[in-house]
Amino acid sequence: MKFLSWFQPDQTAGSIYDIPLEDLWNRGYHNIILDIDNTITPWNQYHVNPRLDHWLRRTEKTGFRICLLSNSKQQKVQQFAAELGVIAAPGRGKPCVRAFQSALSALESRSCDTLVIGDQILTDILGGNWTGLYTILVDPMDPREFIGTKFNRWIERLLVGRKPT
Ligand SMILES: [Mg+2]
Repeated sequence: MKFLSWFQPDQTAGSIYDIPLEDLWNRGYHNIILDIDNTITPWNQYHVNPRLDHWLRRTEKTGFRICLLSNSKQQKVQQFAAELGVIAAPGRGKPCVRAFQSALSALESRSCDTLVIGDQILTDILGGNWTGLYTILVDPMDPREFIGTKFNRWIERLLVGRKPT
């Protein structure tokens, strides 16, 4: 059914560290739109850690271009991107297609060669699918979440039967 397919990721992984990036590179995906909260860092803890830094450098070494896309405050997002040494999209407001298009513009990429990686079906996966991206859902890193996200989790369970982690 078309409606439900909007909420289905193309791939799932336990965490960013479990995604077979070389394989995806070989399949023609060369750009990554990356969520922040609970995807690369526990919710609202914008710290660079060695494991994340290593993953980013390895991913870039493979050839990928990376752009952060978050619904958090733009100033925080831009500052964190600078600390991580990657770019961040100027737009926000996932799942709106416009937000994803701002990331595609920042990457100078097209939807057909771009992945989105995120922990939320109702923002990252839904918007990614609407934009025509290859969508990868990861398990959230931290059970503590923004109240709006808790509501989204409830809808995720209702709609697509995603289990709480
Ligand atoms: Mg998130």
